[in-house]
Amino acid sequence: MNTLLEFRHVERRYRDGQDDVYALRNASFAITAGEFVAVMGPSGSGKSTLLNLAGGLDTPSAGHVLVDGHDLSALDLRALAAVRRRTVGYVFQKLNLLPTLTVVENVMLPLELDGMSARAARAAARAAMGEIDIASLADRYPDDISGGQQQRVAIARAIVGDRQLLLADEPTGALDTVTGESVMELLTKQVASGRTVVLVTHEPRFASFADRVLMVRDGLVTENSGVVAPLRVADELWPEGEAVS
Ligand code: ADP
Ligand code: MG
Repeated sequence: MNTLLEFRHVERRYRDGQDDVYALRNASFAITAGEFVAVMGPSGSGKSTLLNLAGGLDTPSAGHVLVDGHDLSALDLRALAAVRRRTVGYVFQKLNLLPTLTVVENVMLPLELDGMSARAARAAARAAMGEIDIASLADRYPDDISGGQQQRVAIARAIVGDRQLLLADEPTGALDTVTGESVMELLTKQVASGRTVVLVTHEPRFASFADRVLMVRDGLVTENSGVVAPLRVADELWPEGEAVS
């Protein structure tokens, strides 16, 4: 089995005056190609930090992050950028679609930034949009389509160019339940076609779509193997009905 993402004793520390704030402490885990992993935990526990480190958008204070066998800390900036653009796709909580570009232009943008010709980028964007069932939206503008459709555009942009590792930070955050479920089905479909998905969510019902759940609390990552009943996850994470955001 091929490990696509591995954390080895990863730490992310911030300096706050005299104090060190640990956003992530000694995190070690491995994710196999083709797995669907959910990351859960209270607000401020380190979930986004974990995802940013996995995508090479942030650098560990200690330890190593390996993507598809490449130790990100051993890569120069150019090689790191290449891994980020070619292997990793990111769906942010704020979708970051550019309002002045059409849907297809938004989806082709990462490839064009990577130096691909507009013609080839457009063809790849159309293929990604076909996979996500939004081919008909190609010439619309982000502000003209629904929130659920915008979410699909963001996912198409994350997989364009056949990137294998999909990192999604609360992509269902602003969506209603029905639209949220359809995003989950879309992510499940990506896994079925061989991609690897790491999904940050605080919704047990969405985490139940995953093969495996990683729990983060105060920067500590713990593994919850096997099938986890959604209610048990909620009990462990928020024993006293702690506020979640
Ligand atoms: P989550 O996504 O689970 O809500 P984050 O990963 O965003 O949590 O943050 C984890 C912790 O790291 C929080 O305590 C947060 O305040 C701290 N943190 C995150 N980014 C920074 C930063 N740039 N500077 C200082 N502290 C930060
Ligand atoms: Mg976050």
